[in-house]
Amino acid sequence: MRIHVLSLPLNKDFSVDFQMHPSTLIDSNSEHPDTSPIFLAPVDCHVTLKRMGVEEVLMTFSVKTILEPICDRCAVTYQTPFEINSSILCRPLTHSSVEEEEEDEGLVFFSKQELLLDNIIREQIFLSLPMTHLCDPNCQGLCSNCGENLNDGEHECMKRPKFTEHKAKVL
Ligand SMILES: [Zn+2]
Ligand SMILES: [Zn+2]
Repeated sequence: MRIHVLSLPLNKDFSVDFQMHPSTLIDSNSEHPDTSPIFLAPVDCHVTLKRMGVEEVLMTFSVKTILEPICDRCAVTYQTPFEINSSILCRPLTHSSVEEEEEDEGLVFFSKQELLLDNIIREQIFLSLPMTHLCDPNCQGLCSNCGENLNDGEHECMKRPKFTEHKAKVL
């Protein structure tokens, strides 16, 4: 979604709703694209733009979707809701902007007087994604002896006396 900054009313809220399909949400910067979370549902975006000055826009947004990541401990996929409610200031890109950008995460720069909403939202999503994924805070992980999922309850190794030793390695 492309918004021409000068077409926005001055000091008035301008709202726009749109959806981003999971296939458009691939993090090309990720070092581990295989393990990045899978967006299970289209991302619902609600954006409110307010032009504050000649070319300064306050962008308030809420983003909602469902993630289906792989648990870091037990390697099982699970579903979890994901939501961001935030706002950022959008300013035209100038020569000094690049240095400024590194200092302030709440700033976004646009060129050609255009706000590319999809690109801005996509970046905000990847900045907000959790760094670790756990199906449950108390996930027991996998048995270091046989690879069995320890969340599934007792299995063969647990009946052996050496089990406690194996379990200690997991934690
Ligand atoms: Zn798990
Ligand atoms: Zn086992």
